[in-house]
Amino acid sequence: MSTPPAHDHAARRARLADRLPEAGLDALLVTDLTNLRYLTGFTGSAGRLLVRAHGSHTLITDGRYRDQAEAEVPDLPRIITRGDDWVDETIAGTDRVGLEAHRVPWATARSLQERLAPAEAVPAGQLVEELRAIKDSSEIAALERACALTAQTWEAVLAWIQPGVTEREVARFAERTMVDLGADAPAFPPTVAGGPNGARPHHKDGRRALVEGDLITVDMGARVDGYCADMTRLVSLGEPGPELGEVVEVVAAAQAAAVAAVADGVAARDVDAAARDLIAQAGHGEAFVHGTGHGVGLDLHEAPRLGTSSDATLAARMAVTVEPGIYLSELGGARIEDLVVVTDDGCRALTTPDRTLAVR
Ligand code: ZN
Ligand code: ZN
Repeated sequence: MSTPPAHDHAARRARLADRLPEAGLDALLVTDLTNLRYLTGFTGSAGRLLVRAHGSHTLITDGRYRDQAEAEVPDLPRIITRGDDWVDETIAGTDRVGLEAHRVPWATARSLQERLAPAEAVPAGQLVEELRAIKDSSEIAALERACALTAQTWEAVLAWIQPGVTEREVARFAERTMVDLGADAPAFPPTVAGGPNGARPHHKDGRRALVEGDLITVDMGARVDGYCADMTRLVSLGEPGPELGEVVEVVAAAQAAAVAAVADGVAARDVDAAARDLIAQAGHGEAFVHGTGHGVGLDLHEAPRLGTSSDATLAARMAVTVEPGIYLSELGGARIEDLVVVTDDGCRALTTPDRTLAVR
């Protein structure tokens, strides 16, 4: 594999800095660690970044991360401290500092307000998350690699799965395979839901042994360079019964319809409706108990949401899942999920394994 493109963190910080004045801010104190990684490449578990509308930006972390910060963020001034003495060094000349209000605990906000005075600390919107929704080329490349490893893992699962193994053994096998193939880690604990457990959308690897006739939903993804893959496929041990066989067909049609609806400028809720209408027409509207999809990036679930109440509009270079499902208590269920990148006139699936039911 050729060398992946490097992330241009400076360009991301510049885009954020450009947006601060219109948000009424002189600076934004980034405390969300995923946002921090997005803007700097820093992967430590403690740190903050002060992004200024004009002038330099500063990374603040503590002594545990001195060397790591130097290696990962060589291009920014760094303050190493456990206290709040960084304020005096960085805040001078700043009147309004935005806090990530959706992330900062109330008590922390209160103490920051006191410490930042006379600068005013104000709640800021999800400025970094909005930038993160549109992927740059290096991010799409990382998502592609994560999805390629996930596809390889799925092929290995299909070759390995058989009656008698438990759901959790399948999940462990998938996790091990991903890491052996070069993933950072699984992006999330896989869902392996066989037989009646298929009625639970987020069923976690259980102790139930798979049996002949099981329809099995497998939802998994590798994490590569911090970026998450997210894919769901179906496998059955022998042919599923007629009822679940019909459920699989409806889900497949709904998923294809929703993927076909994805394009730049399309309302996210219209993509949801494309899947939901088909499932409702088949009489299973009540059994589709979640939204059709979500954005994916450094976080498994990020903007935008694709659901009935979403007010997001899809834009080119967003990476979103399309994952309708039907869940029938005691009988089982089915979901098919792709991760796609929105293009001007449609989308491109990064998850490429065959979507039709695999029968083993
Ligand atoms: Zn998933
Ligand atoms: Zn998902």
